Amino acid sequence: MSGYYLHVPHPTERGRLTVRDLLLSQMPFAFGQSKWSDKIFPDTCVFCLETLGPSSPYRLLPCDHVFHLPCIDRWLCGEDASCPICRQQFYHLRGPRMVYIAHPSGNSSHHHELADIRDKFHTLGVWFGTITRP
Ligand SMILES: [Zn+2]
Ligand SMILES: [Zn+2]
Repeated sequence: MSGYYLHVPHPTERGRLTVRDLLLSQMPFAFGQSKWSDKIFPDTCVFCLETLGPSSPYRLLPCDHVFHLPCIDRWLCGEDASCPICRQQFYHLRGPRMVYIAHPSGNSSHHHELADIRDKFHTLGVWFGTITRP
């Protein structure tokens, strides 16, 4: 039967995080560079090429790499749950999600990660709508 199914990704299954996964992961973020004095901050965002500075928002990944917050969140939730620099994978952070499976009995793997798609738009809206620079 076609329908919506709760999919629990295997810890090594490749994919994106949902916004919920990202929140639950509790990856630290900060406005400005003073919080993590021992980390190396990028001068320029690898995604949007914006020049970053002491007042920019940052997120620290578990691999110790620091990124421009809105851009790394879009990467993790829109592209792949991995570090773009060292390729460390964070697939174990992916939680259960609703997927639509059209033909579960056949070998068609055509399904949409509806939760992800919804979260993707949510992420874009939230980050671009609410982040204000101090
Ligand atoms: Zn950026
Ligand atoms: Zn890394």
